[in-house]
This record gives sequence, C-alpha cells and structure tokens, in this order.
Amino acid sequence: MESVTLYRAPTAVADTDAIADWLDARIEATVSVRDRFLSLHGDSELAESFAEARVLSPYDRETGNTMLGIVRYEERALESPERAGGVIYDGLAVQQALHERIPESERSLDHLHVPLLDRVVGTWGDHDGRWHKRVNVLGQPAIVSVPGLYEAPAKPEQYYKEQQKHALLGGGAPPREVLENEVEGEFLVEDDPRTTEAIKGYVLQAYHYLDTGEVFCDEDTCRLHNPHRQPGVVAAQLRAPEFCPEHAERYCP
Ligand SMILES: [Zn+2]
Repeated sequence: MESVTLYRAPTAVADTDAIADWLDARIEATVSVRDRFLSLHGDSELAESFAEARVLSPYDRETGNTMLGIVRYEERALESPERAGGVIYDGLAVQQALHERIPESERSLDHLHVPLLDRVVGTWGDHDGRWHKRVNVLGQPAIVSVPGLYEAPAKPEQYYKEQQKHALLGGGAPPREVLENEVEGEFLVEDDPRTTEAIKGYVLQAYHYLDTGEVFCDEDTCRLHNPHRQPGVVAAQLRAPEFCPEHAERYCP
C-alpha cells in the first residue's frame, strides 16, 4: 500500500485530520485528507445512485426508489448534507457508485480511499434475511459511516426499554443524561465526544483489509475487532490495550 486518502464528513463530529495523524503514525503508507467525497464528486447521477441504494424495508432485499421526488431529495442531500437522515443505504451499492467517482489514475489498490460518510449504510444478511447496519464497508473505497458507529452495534437492552418508556410518556427520545444514568453498560450516542477515537480503529480496519486481505480480528480488545454490541466497541476502541499482541507488533508506533 502506498497511500491512503481520507475524506471529511463535515456534518459529523469525527475529526478526520486527527484520525489521519493517528493512522500516519502507525502505517508506512502516506496519509492525506481531502474534503467531503460527496461534494467533490456529487453529480445528479450520484443522486440517482443513492436513490437506487435506499433500503425500503429491513426485511426486503430489493432496494431503490427512483421517483423524481426522491432523486430530488438525494440531490439536495448531496448539496446540503445536514438534510440527509433517517435512511439506510445499501453499502455495497454506495461503494460501487463511489468507486466510479475515484479518479481513474487513483483507483488501484495501492491507493486506498476512505470516505467518512454522514449516511447510514447496511449490508444484506443472506443467513437471516434482513439488513444489518454497518460502521464500515471494507474494499475500495472503504466506507466509514459515522452515524453507523452509534446505530450499527446494538446498545444495551435497557436502552431500548428506556426509549420506549419515554415514547409512551410522550417525551420522544430521552435526553442523553437520563440514558447514561439509567442504563448500565457502556455505549456511544449520537455526536459522542469519543467518536474520533472510536472511528480510528474502523479506518485502520479498512487499511488492514486491503493491505493483508485479512478481515476483522477475533481478540475483543483489539482495534481491528468488529463487535456487534456497543460495550464491545468501547472495549475494542476506547480501552487499553490498543491491539492484540499480533497486531501490536504491526501497528504500535
Ligand atoms: Zn488484533
């Protein structure tokens, strides 16, 4: 691998430059940062690709709604990212669409592109017939979804119960302090101040995969681990040690 380019997600709290610095200290490839991928390469065709990639139901493999209103909505969401939200996109379809926008001279696998996205992406589970939200989709480009960090790994059971309780009382989503006091176990919430720290590991996973062909690490304390639950994210990304012994040898600065 010769170079890695990260792309900022300006509406998300993740600090892409800090993530790039962290990565740069751990790998030999040159690391650079560019502005938001969707602004650099967004055109009306891309809006249509996003419309086609919309997940319509958690249990329906078929995606896409290219009615004019939806495509217009996607065009606006490309232009002003703060408007996007509440939609899950097929991560592989988005990856394909973004791949076509990488300049041809930069598409080879020795130059990894990692757009941080302000969108929620998922992949279809053949084994259980439903969509699963993802923090990252490995490959070229590797997609890292910042909202996916909060939504993909499951929160403790009690969180959802508290949420329901508040909804029944007509209060909508309960305030964060309530959740943090009432719910045992650790988890990240939207715009969590630990976002940048946690995302670092997910970006490194993208690099590791393209450089070695290996997917996630089984050791639950390692940054290359990909847990299904939030307490696992905290253990892997926010607690020492950073890596398992094998990956420490490779990535400790
Ligand atoms: Zn490991």
